[in-house]
Amino acid sequence: MSDQYAYLRGEFVSLDNATINIRTHGFLYGTAVFEGIKAYWLPETGQMSVFRMVEHYKRLIQSCRILRLRSPIDAETMGNLTIELIRRNQCQGPTYIRPIVYKADLRIGPILTVENTKDDFCLFTVPMDGYLDTSKGLKVGVSSWRRLDDNAIPARAKVNGAYVNTALAKTDGYLSGFDDVVVLTNEGHVAEGSAMNLFLVRDNQLITSSITENILEGITRDTIIQLAQQELGLSIVSRPIDRTELYVADEAFFVGTATELAPITSFDNRPVGDGKVGTISTKLRDLYSKAIHGLLPQYSHWLTKV
Ligand code: PMP
Repeated sequence: MSDQYAYLRGEFVSLDNATINIRTHGFLYGTAVFEGIKAYWLPETGQMSVFRMVEHYKRLIQSCRILRLRSPIDAETMGNLTIELIRRNQCQGPTYIRPIVYKADLRIGPILTVENTKDDFCLFTVPMDGYLDTSKGLKVGVSSWRRLDDNAIPARAKVNGAYVNTALAKTDGYLSGFDDVVVLTNEGHVAEGSAMNLFLVRDNQLITSSITENILEGITRDTIIQLAQQELGLSIVSRPIDRTELYVADEAFFVGTATELAPITSFDNRPVGDGKVGTISTKLRDLYSKAIHGLLPQYSHWLTKV
């Protein structure tokens, strides 16, 4: 028996008993939205802290609106339950937190708005250190799978069913010998990684895809933009990115809550810059690591202490 808890159907239950009925709409049709949030141990104060929790729950509510999901609880209550779960699970190191709002009624038929049906909220945590290796640089390929369009399954919402696209792209990339992939939009522009946003460095300027390029509006993306501007004085441009810009970039890296900042050292077997992890990537990776561990006092508003 696990000693861990989850939150399901309005109560804390043993993680082993946190199961749902096979007729659940969210399981049948992928009609659910989620967040991936991370909490870290703060070495200086000796406590856990959730990184940018407010922004994650704001985005979860935004995803609910797009998918016509009516969460039974508001963002503030979700935050309180998250803190309570971290306490109950006695988390003391890097922890991944997965809240989900899902269509909970047992029903055949994809329509989202049916009277007297219920949407529900659930939550669990897992220990997570190192989703991708951030130390030596990733070998990345351009996927033949295209990113979902805003008018198909909107990337702006973190929809469970949309991660079939991620799974196809990531798996085929992996089987071709890459650590991860870049997916292109239907127009052929660079969207993002399998489950992370992308930055390129060209002539000391950071370039990242604009939010109208079928990307998730990443919270780490926003964190990195702020750190790059405020701490390193770099200029940042958000715009459509051509595929061949990958091949001529000086540096490149993925960012995401699970990924943190992972430098990329090749695209389609062409070295990025000199093929080594770049200096801007290294500086930003170290700043990000300090921020999440509470070592940059000017960004303490990003931390929710447990
Ligand atoms: N894009 C996709 C498709 C993702 O799944 C993620 C991970 N949530 C990201 C980008 C990065 O977003 P964030 O920094 O908010 O975790």
